[in-house]
Amino acid sequence: MLTDLPVTLLDIYHAYARIRPWVRHTPLVKASSFKGNVWLKLENQQETGAFKLRGATNRLLTLREEEKKQGVVACSTGNHGRAVAFAANRLGVRSVICMSELVPQNKVDAVRSLGAEVRIIGRSQDDAQKEMDKLVREGMIPVPPFDHPEVVAGQGTIALEILEDQPDIDTILVPLSGGGLIAGIALALKIITPSIRVIGVSMERGAAMYASQQAGKPVEVEELPTLADSLGGGIGLNNRVTFPIVRECVDDIILLTEEEIAHGMRHLYFHEQQVVEGAGAVGAAALLAGKVPDTGNIATILSGKNIDMHAFHRVMNKT
Ligand SMILES: *Cc1c(COP(=O)(O)O)cnc(C)c1O
Repeated sequence: MLTDLPVTLLDIYHAYARIRPWVRHTPLVKASSFKGNVWLKLENQQETGAFKLRGATNRLLTLREEEKKQGVVACSTGNHGRAVAFAANRLGVRSVICMSELVPQNKVDAVRSLGAEVRIIGRSQDDAQKEMDKLVREGMIPVPPFDHPEVVAGQGTIALEILEDQPDIDTILVPLSGGGLIAGIALALKIITPSIRVIGVSMERGAAMYASQQAGKPVEVEELPTLADSLGGGIGLNNRVTFPIVRECVDDIILLTEEEIAHGMRHLYFHEQQVVEGAGAVGAAALLAGKVPDTGNIATILSGKNIDMHAFHRVMNKT
């Protein structure tokens, strides 16, 4: 039942009111280059270059005053780390982002320049995670990338913006990894307009939420290199929030090959003038691959743009 889930529609409305001054209401633009009616939600134009700012900002704004003084910690080399660094800096909260020694210097510099302390430790993501756990034991507040009610509520504000700008949507395609983005969006839409079909899109190479839903419980999958690197990683074996919401609210999950993802990125660039990282292009890619049942007005989230521009060029030049 929609009302037994760990996040409510009211949480999403509260998040919307709370984060509004701090995040952009990004444009929803009608695409001209797809068959049928397709709208693109431009979260690649969100500040920090990805939607994760919404969830991180909502989590930070719901901390109690004494928790804010303790500072926040996250463990991410990518969009989540940037979001936490940026939001904490603007709200005057100390932030520490833990990373391993193997993380490229440009990613370290990017997070540092957004105002976080970067703590470099060990030679794997697990080592960085252990450092974070230690800082949490010492009193810092963790900001998880997806499996937290306030993070999910923050990401769900995207659905409210879409309904404001174009209420007549029949199908929405949402990039899916840990499921914070799709859980927030699907929960809001299934309560407000239950007829909307909500479809998650992941890469074939290591789709943890897909494998977990198939298994009926959170499972680990082998992590493989992919163009959609922001979709990599597991959903957490102790997942409490996103797994049940996805089970209840998501209609289908589509999986894509690497070539299909690259095609989506190229199409968005050459035909819609949008720079989008692999993870952000999967909705468009699923449409182009003919994997979406044709169902009326379609919206998709271009969830981020943070890709190394040399890598971007290599994808663009391969035709
Ligand atoms: C994190 C991320 C996703 C996936 O979001 P989840 O909440 O983990 O499902 C998709 N696209 C981009 C660009 C991201 O950074």
